[in-house]
Amino acid sequence: MTHPVLIAGGGIGGLAAAAALAGKGVPSVVLEQASQMAEIGAGIQIGPNGFHCFDALGIGPQMRKTAVFIDALRLLDAQTAEEITRIPLDAPFRAHFGNPYAVVHRAELHQLLLQRCIDSGLVDLRTSQSAVSYSQDGTSVTLHLSGGDQITGRALIGAEGLRSAIRAQMLQDGEPIVSGHTTYRSVIPVDRMPEDLRMNAATLWAGPKCHIVHYPLKGGSVFNLVVTYHRDVAEAVSGRSVTHEEVAVGFEHIHPSARAVIEHGSDWKLWVLCDREPVSRWTEGRVALLGDAAHPMLQYFAQGACMAMEDAVALAVAFDSTHDVETALARYQAMRMTRTARVQMNSRLIGDYIYHPDDAKAAVRNEVMQGMSPQDWYDQLTWIYRSNGLPPEMGGI
Ligand SMILES: Cc1cc2nc3c(=O)[nH]c(=O)nc-3n(C[C@H](O)[C@H](O)[C@H](O)COP(=O)(O)OP(=O)(O)OC[C@H]3O[C@@H](n4cnc5c(N)ncnc54)[C@H](O)[C@@H]3O)c2cc1C
Repeated sequence: MTHPVLIAGGGIGGLAAAAALAGKGVPSVVLEQASQMAEIGAGIQIGPNGFHCFDALGIGPQMRKTAVFIDALRLLDAQTAEEITRIPLDAPFRAHFGNPYAVVHRAELHQLLLQRCIDSGLVDLRTSQSAVSYSQDGTSVTLHLSGGDQITGRALIGAEGLRSAIRAQMLQDGEPIVSGHTTYRSVIPVDRMPEDLRMNAATLWAGPKCHIVHYPLKGGSVFNLVVTYHRDVAEAVSGRSVTHEEVAVGFEHIHPSARAVIEHGSDWKLWVLCDREPVSRWTEGRVALLGDAAHPMLQYFAQGACMAMEDAVALAVAFDSTHDVETALARYQAMRMTRTARVQMNSRLIGDYIYHPDDAKAAVRNEVMQGMSPQDWYDQLTWIYRSNGLPPEMGGI
């Protein structure tokens, strides 16, 4: 009997991997530490490359039904309230990149992936299973779980996010890098959003050491607010409730219109962002990493979940290309390494030079970006948005 592929972690990356493998007829077991399969947080931006993945994962039609198709990505100067640039997400954008740009609800995406796994009949979903370590002998791999249980598979995919135990054993590269940047998130009903800001767009106010993002969600009935500030915090935090006063500290220097966004938020939750340096190896024999476990990044390119889904699609294509598991995982890593490293690096650069610069650097940003046409933006973004992350010989577009 052929063992299934083991997938540690049932987030967007782990479920996408299971769904993609099932699409190629490969059975898997997903082991999630939480007591139920769920996703926290609200909105998530999905570039055209994410929609290429939805289609490959078989959830394209459903995602198109629930997504909010925004009209533009807008960048405003948070000190002057002037628009610096705008990328229209209209028909020419969709034609150029082969798919739209949209915002979706995380829970809806997670639920559709989960349903896809269930419907396939090839995915064994297990909750309250915490991965601790692995061992392998050249013919199989065994995942050791907390509590002493173990499970054997033909391959193991570590998809347990930023603090992956599989990564810790494989790469022994210590704790993630704490950026010190605090991100506060809130969702408010549309009628609490200032009327002049109820645009069908993802709007980003860029200011010194801070930025504010807002966009409509759930059919436009609510607005997703994301407020980021460099507070040089040393401790990583994920989803802790904080007071409104804490969120507002330090925004005295920005324009009242931008500040008004913060004033209308409530039930704020805090994340202290972390990433890692890109690495060139995240496979070892029958074990590979996927998603944030492999290439955690700052959120500034809005690509972490998109990269996790691209990984999943590439993993399934690699398994479909050979019966040898180690060859498949080596191919998977080869397909994904430079692209994901490039996104990790760009995520930091976007933070430093587009979202958070001050003074002369901000003036350079404004001058350069004010002169950019939609076609200039298409040229800048083609490598990420038009591609599905696969090489041409493996079905790449
Ligand atoms: C503020 C913010 C905004 C973002 N915005 C965007 C965006 O707009 N667009 C975008 O594409 N991306 C965005 N991202 C990034 C995106 O959320 C992540 O990259 C993506 O969720 C990673 O998915 P994952 O499945 O790899 O990891 P995770 O989502 O972290 O999932 C890991 C899963 O593994 C489980 N787990 C952990 N440890 C174990 C263990 N030992 N054993 C078993 N299970 C375990 C966890 O419970 C979890 O279910 C954003 C991130 C942040 C923080």
